[in-house]
Amino acid sequence: MNQSAAAAPVVPVTLDLRAFRAPPRSVQECVALWERLEPAVVTVDPLAGPRVRFDLGDEGEVGVWFLEPAAAPRPLGPGTPFAIRGVLEPAEVRNTCATCRTSGSTTYAPYRCPGCDEGRRIGRVCEAHAVFLDGSLRASCVRHAPVCRCGTTAVAWCSGVRCRSRTAWCETHLRRHPRDASVAYCADCHAERFPECEVGQCPSTGYIRCEHRTLAAMKPCGRRVCADHVRRWQVYGRYSRGVALCSRHHHGLRSTSPEDLIDIVLAGTVARASGKRWKSASNRRVQLPRISIVRHILINTRGTVLDMEDIDRLFTSLERRLRGLPSRDATVSSALDLLARHRTSRREDIERFRQQHVEGHAYFGRMVDALRRAGRWELADAVEFSDFRPGKGILFVKVPEHLVGLFKGRGQANVRQLEHQVGVSIQLERRG
Ligand SMILES: [Zn+2]
Ligand SMILES: [Zn+2]
Ligand SMILES: [Zn+2]
Ligand SMILES: [Zn+2]
Ligand SMILES: [Zn+2]
Ligand SMILES: [Zn+2]
Repeated sequence: MNQSAAAAPVVPVTLDLRAFRAPPRSVQECVALWERLEPAVVTVDPLAGPRVRFDLGDEGEVGVWFLEPAAAPRPLGPGTPFAIRGVLEPAEVRNTCATCRTSGSTTYAPYRCPGCDEGRRIGRVCEAHAVFLDGSLRASCVRHAPVCRCGTTAVAWCSGVRCRSRTAWCETHLRRHPRDASVAYCADCHAERFPECEVGQCPSTGYIRCEHRTLAAMKPCGRRVCADHVRRWQVYGRYSRGVALCSRHHHGLRSTSPEDLIDIVLAGTVARASGKRWKSASNRRVQLPRISIVRHILINTRGTVLDMEDIDRLFTSLERRLRGLPSRDATVSSALDLLARHRTSRREDIERFRQQHVEGHAYFGRMVDALRRAGRWELADAVEFSDFRPGKGILFVKVPEHLVGLFKGRGQANVRQLEHQVGVSIQLERRG
């Protein structure tokens, strides 16, 4: 440098890096870039064009803007002092694709990839690198694509109640919805959504749960049964839906004691009384079945014929047992409530039964007389009164098994004749 050069004024410039792919990230890198450019910069005439561009090949272009071209020394030379007053950088892309970044390019990334999270900021992935699976709008990059529990690449998110589209599974571990293949479930969620019927090989879904429960164990059996295979224990009369039972519990009723059967009925009624479904289904309050119905339940279920008084006693002793419990939970309170409301109807039924009994016994007496008159002594001694239904005019009688044929006669002829003589229809009490 000579003396005149030393006095030369500083040439202010601005660098335009908007088309340069690897913009300097530090002052050192900026100085290094300038040192590469300077030999070319000093060969241009600032007045001829205040903005000049330099082609750096693969790296792109750098523009140099002379801010005061008229004041610059002419010609510029190796000794000319320059001052970089400003740098124009490419507009910053805030959400950039992590996958693209590793190959050196900057791409706008609209989706999140949790796997690409580099500590502070949530990771991002661009349109081209985003992977979407059925069942969720959640994205990831190719590298962090969800993996099934078995280690295989997942193909869909399970939309079932357990996974809630937060767990993804491979094709082998997914079961597609039969009518909508975009809806898939893992084995557990599928079993929850489409439970199998307890009857082997049954193709229907077991939507109904066995409602068998006892006061001591209010959690129901829960075994799944389809609508075709479910057994309804009609304890609320013919027109109310009975207790749904699985085959095992339906079968077990036959060998269950009257006390335990009433416990099951009470437990089932407590469950219905506390369930909203049943309250809204019928405006009536949920009630225990009348003992006239219970009597027939006991006859049909286990072949036990009890008087109304006997059945009333079953209820009162159950009530006494519950009152005697050291503590009352919600179940016991609700059961006692039902039993208290049941008491009135029990009294009514007993009274009606007594009247019918008197009326029925009159018909029964007439029938026994008719048998004696016909000389059928063995039958007259063995036959027993069971029940009388005045509405339908039916007299139920009990006849020992070995005399049933004799009692009925050929083609019911003997019974028909008795009915004619007594004036009511006569039926044998069903036994279990
Ligand atoms: Zn990308
Ligand atoms: Zn990722
Ligand atoms: Zn699932
Ligand atoms: Zn798998
Ligand atoms: Zn079934
Ligand atoms: Zn069951």
